[in-house]
Order: sequence, then C-alpha cells, then structure tokens
Amino acid sequence: MVKVIAIANQKGGVGKTTTAVNLAACLASLERKVLLIDSDPQGNATSGFGFDKRDIKQCIYDAIISDVPMQDVIKHTAYKGLDLVPATIQLAGAEIELVSLMNREGRLKNSLERVKHNYDYVIIDCPPSLGLLTINGLTAASSVMIPIQCEFYALEGVTMLMNTIQLVQRNLNPALKLEGVLMTMYDSRTNLSQDVVNEVQKYFKTKMYQTIIPRNVRLSEAPSHGQPVIDYDSKSKGAQVYMDFAREVIEDE
Ligand code: ADP
Ligand code: MG
Repeated sequence: MVKVIAIANQKGGVGKTTTAVNLAACLASLERKVLLIDSDPQGNATSGFGFDKRDIKQCIYDAIISDVPMQDVIKHTAYKGLDLVPATIQLAGAEIELVSLMNREGRLKNSLERVKHNYDYVIIDCPPSLGLLTINGLTAASSVMIPIQCEFYALEGVTMLMNTIQLVQRNLNPALKLEGVLMTMYDSRTNLSQDVVNEVQKYFKTKMYQTIIPRNVRLSEAPSHGQPVIDYDSKSKGAQVYMDFAREVIEDE
C-alpha cells in the first residue's frame, strides 16, 4: 500500500523542504519507490535535486490547474527509484486560480490517483501557508508529518495547523492521520533546544519521532549543489541522521 505523506507547517524555514528532499532520497536508497511532489512555488525541492527551473516546461501547476496528466509532469531524478513532480514560480498563481475551480481542494488528490500506485511513498512538500495548496496536500495525503524547529516560539501557530488538519479530516479527508512530529535544527550547545523538545513532547506525546535532526552545515550546503545530503557528503552527521529517520519511517510498514 502506498503511503502519501504531506510535510506541512505554515511557518517558513522550519525544515519542510530539507526533510522532504532528504527523506525522499534516503527512502530511495533503502530501495523504496518514491515520488516527491514539490508543492511550493519557491521550487526549492526541485532545485534541491539539481533541476534548473528555467528548463522545466510543465510543472505541478499544469497537473492541478490545467488537467495535464500527472504522468506527463513527472521527472526522473539521478536517483534510482526516485521521481519528482517539479514546481516553478508559475505555481504562485495557483493559490488564486484554484478558488474558482471545481473541486478546488481535491485537485492534487485526483491527479495523483493514476500514478500513486507505482510508488511505495509519495512525499508532498507543502508551501509555508495554510492556503489551498496546503489543503490540496492534506486532502491527497494518508498522513501528515510536521517538522518543528527547535527555537523559541516553536509551538506558535501549531494550534492553527492542528485546527486546519481537523477541518480537513472532518470535511475532505476523514482518513488523514498524524504521521508524526519531527524536531529539526537541534543545537546541542544550548539548553533552549532541549527545553523546546520537552515542551513539544508535552503537546504531542507519542507522536514525536525518536530521531531528532541536529543543525548541520552540510544540510544547508547540499541544496546549492543540487544534491541531497547523502550524495553531497554521505559521511556527514546530516546524512547519517536522515538515514536514521528514513529507517524510523519504514518501521511502520
Ligand atoms: P522550509 O521548507 O520549512 O521553509 P527549509 O527546509 O527550506 O525550510 O529550511 C530553511 C533553511 O534552513 C534552509 O536554508 C535550509 O538549508 C536550512 N536548514 C534546514 N534544516 C537544517 C539543519 N538541520 N541544519 C542546518 N540548516 C538547516
Ligand atoms: Mg520549503
């Protein structure tokens, strides 16, 4: 059974894209078939795999707005078993254009229907908002993964995110589950990071992943080389920890 995981948090810069790109690459290296969907007009997951956005003729926009079959938009990456649905800045218009379309919340779900069974995991990198693109991600997903940055105000906005998830469960996708909460950018030199982990633990209890992603400079360098960290520096802490995380995600199979 394919698992469709939406990576969502309306805060920017919490590690959604870093997690989407590196989890996808690590799952593929563990011989899973993975489709990564870039659903952020910034297209950071797309460039994170070395694609030049200027060369992309059709992106997720065409699939969800213009009914182009998803199959025609999918690109193979340099990784065996890992495909990508790219995003370009064109997607920025989708948030407004979706409003007046039929089935505006379910368009990604529909366009995925034909292709998702070719994969073990579909990972959706959501944009930093709770608008219609994120709602489309949550409607298409079987579960939602929430990255939370280890910083002051970490839980700010989480109530609003949880309310949105509940609304989607009630009205659009009753089967949607909370996959888990991933703490990111942990800094072992500060007490603050541990305090934040403890606080988030109180809120989410058993839904927290064991794996905690530390701050690691290789993770922030890898995207400018168009590579996931396991390619850019396979011996780095960042590479090891995202491999651990992928193994933890797989434990659920
Ligand atoms: P989001 O997709 O939630 O906006 P990103 O994944 O793009 O967040 O991360 C924001 C910035 O932080 C990026 O520059 C990224 O390279 C960097 N970053 C993310 N995770 C880490 C980490 N664990 N260690 C160091 N830098 C990180
Ligand atoms: Mg992002």
